[in-house]
Amino acid sequence: MIIVIKPKATKEQIDHIMEKVKGLGLKPWLSEGVERSIIGVIGEEDKLRVVPLEGMAGVEKVIPILKPFKLASLDYRSVPTKVDIGNGLKVGGDRLIVMAGPCSVETKEGLLDLARKVKKAGATVLRGGAFKPRTSPYAFQGLGEEGLEYLAEARDKTGLLIITELMDIRTIGKVLEYADIIQIGARNMQNFDLLKEVGKTRKPVFLKRGIASTLKEFLMSAEYVLSGGNPDVILCERGIRTFETFTRNTLDLNAVPALKSLTHLPVVVDPSHGTGRWGMVTAMSRAAVAAGCDGLMVEVHPNPEEAYSDGDQSLLPEKFENLMKECRKVAEAVGRTM
Ligand code: PEP
Ligand code: MN
Repeated sequence: MIIVIKPKATKEQIDHIMEKVKGLGLKPWLSEGVERSIIGVIGEEDKLRVVPLEGMAGVEKVIPILKPFKLASLDYRSVPTKVDIGNGLKVGGDRLIVMAGPCSVETKEGLLDLARKVKKAGATVLRGGAFKPRTSPYAFQGLGEEGLEYLAEARDKTGLLIITELMDIRTIGKVLEYADIIQIGARNMQNFDLLKEVGKTRKPVFLKRGIASTLKEFLMSAEYVLSGGNPDVILCERGIRTFETFTRNTLDLNAVPALKSLTHLPVVVDPSHGTGRWGMVTAMSRAAVAAGCDGLMVEVHPNPEEAYSDGDQSLLPEKFENLMKECRKVAEAVGRTM
């Protein structure tokens, strides 16, 4: 439910409404806008029906939110959310944010060298998995904390921000200590306990769409993080499983305008996992930018043939540089920068 506040309402009136809602055991969220403020109410809204809210001083009107996702919905917030990721950068503004790096963190020197190259090409966030969700238990599982240390060192030496995946609640302390953005992978999109845990943090959460998830399910997962108290969620379309086997996944670019019509949260596209083929990554990046995404996540590796994971979809640094050049032109054509 949304309580729309009158433009001239006083602070005391707003406080009184907030207290009234809290007194019923519900959670009010005050969202202060330039023109007017609104209070979102989450919980058993039926309790509110017995209160004559519309008659309270300072209340303009009360609107029920019929969608299952509430805090994520455009009804709750009609202006796009810009997620502050640090270094003066925001995901969801005019400038597209590019996150690039290896699938897995491998060696310290290799990571640092690559970080310098992706930065030079225009990336502002270094990606790299230290805890890897692998299909086979015999495949490389990631360097763990050592990988986090290498990422942090690369951040210190280059000034790039770092994003890395959190797979398990038991390692949340470590990941929070090092990462600027916490990635929740596709396989964990519906790990509700993990979502509740990152909802309690103050770090931006990069939520990847589940392999077979609908957009509604995707937004309900974002709702878990938002309702936990963390407003900084970035959605990532990374391809879904379809009957097609030529590509690893089918990159669902419909998701970009579809999500924009449903939510205020920023949307980033990952064409690497979305295609599974490096030869398609640049074309799909251009398409994603044209479709209106707020950023890209791209896997880059100095020697893809030797990569510990996802070599087939990793770009060489020079190919990534070219991707940036091409995408900048598209960004400009759609009124954005990169
Ligand atoms: C990754 O980013 O390396 C990754 C494992 O992604 P996803 O969760 O989308 O498969
Ligand atoms: Mn990968």
